[in-house]
Amino acid sequence: MQLSGPSLEEKLITAGTVVDDTPVSFGSYSPKNDTKGFFGLMNIRYILRVSRNIPEVKMMKNLTVAKSLEYLAKFGLDTSKEQDDGLSLALGGMAHGPTVLQMAAAYGTIANDGTYIEPTFYTKVVAQDGSTIIETNQETRRVLSEQNAWILQTLLKEPTGTGLTGSSGATATRARVSNQDTAGKTGTTNESKALWFCGFTPYYSGAVWLGYDIETDGKAGRSSSLAAQLWGNVMKDVHKDLPSASFDKPDGITTASICKESGKLATDLCREGHGTGNMVYTEYFVNGTVPKDTCDVHVKGKICNKSGKLATDACQDVTEKIFITREDADKDKSWEKANDAQYMLPVETCDQCVSVTPEPPEEENPNGGNTNTENPNGNTNTNTNTNTNTNSSGNTNTNTNTNSSGNTNTGNTNTNTSGTGNTNTGNTNTNTNNNGNTNTNTNTNSNGNTNTGNTNTNTNGGSGTGTGSTNKNDDTTSGNKGESTES
Ligand SMILES: [Zn+2]
Ligand SMILES: [Zn+2]
Repeated sequence: MQLSGPSLEEKLITAGTVVDDTPVSFGSYSPKNDTKGFFGLMNIRYILRVSRNIPEVKMMKNLTVAKSLEYLAKFGLDTSKEQDDGLSLALGGMAHGPTVLQMAAAYGTIANDGTYIEPTFYTKVVAQDGSTIIETNQETRRVLSEQNAWILQTLLKEPTGTGLTGSSGATATRARVSNQDTAGKTGTTNESKALWFCGFTPYYSGAVWLGYDIETDGKAGRSSSLAAQLWGNVMKDVHKDLPSASFDKPDGITTASICKESGKLATDLCREGHGTGNMVYTEYFVNGTVPKDTCDVHVKGKICNKSGKLATDACQDVTEKIFITREDADKDKSWEKANDAQYMLPVETCDQCVSVTPEPPEEENPNGGNTNTENPNGNTNTNTNTNTNTNSSGNTNTNTNTNSSGNTNTGNTNTNTSGTGNTNTGNTNTNTNNNGNTNTNTNTNSNGNTNTGNTNTNTNGGSGTGTGSTNKNDDTTSGNKGESTES
């Protein structure tokens, strides 16, 4: 009421929003959970079901205490003596505290689809003659939209174990009234000096407070489930002759499949889960508030089985599976204490596996078949096209300069360079020039090696002029050929 309702109304949360249960401090205030440990990523339903303090305080930080007090006043609580600096308000910590009647009326506001109705103890006093002596004039006002009130009704079914998330660890299962939708929330003040349960059905709203008139050092009881039990016992009796009823869904509500751990639209990874089952469920949303982003918590990743860290290309023994991750997980490591840390994608990369660089394979003709086409029709160009192939033994190199019709080309050079001590066989340098060109081409085989059977060819089409085919083989050569052909 002081938290979820206002946060819904202010559009800070939806029913699917996820808050992290991890250690946190706000100045000198470090909220503690009632039970040890940290649950990690929890959605609002889960937080409400088990009443988890740290996520609730984080939500209050987001809402602000001032905004919460503003809503509590609209819900009919006397907040005039409250300071607006205590985040423990998230847990019901009020310096002076509301009355039980105020709390019943506040929860009645949620049951009345978001409209506060001032409580009254009479409706009318009529005289013998029928004239009205006193008539009540109840103040009413809207606090939550009808849609947000209904969403909150469904959220507050979680503590009674009848919501969308089951009943495991639910704090108020004893409040449940059979055959009636039952919603409500437990509350415990510091050291269990007072225990609360406030709740409602489609028929009645009520509040129970257990404690001492003058606070002693005694506890009111072991846990607030006692207050829920007392509330349930009274309400079961009150409802015993009433027909079964549920909270009516208003217009303007839609549904979407979302992820339990991100609150965003579900993906196949959420459906497959990270080893704890399907993480997808159908949530209710006020029209226009369905999340637009898809889940970014569930990711597929590879870890190195040797180091347990993110795998690199060097890691041989690798497992690929689905993990959860968090924004800035490498910077804020408060999640390391959470129960779900075991499912986290590691933030560190493997540093144990050393990559073995394989011998590079013998490359064949890395530059084979280069084509320079830089002389469009009709131009006069002076080009130096240089193709250079460096080859090991026994390869065939083809360097090709192709020039289109009507050009004048000068200074094309094809060069084959071979490493020292190789035997080169069958290397081919080819310049091909089409009709009407004037070409001055040089083909050079420059090898300090043993070269056999290399061919340099200049082919000039039509009336072209080709000059300057050169075979330059310095060492032992045989069968090399330099050709200029004109046709
Ligand atoms: Zn997911
Ligand atoms: Zn490794």
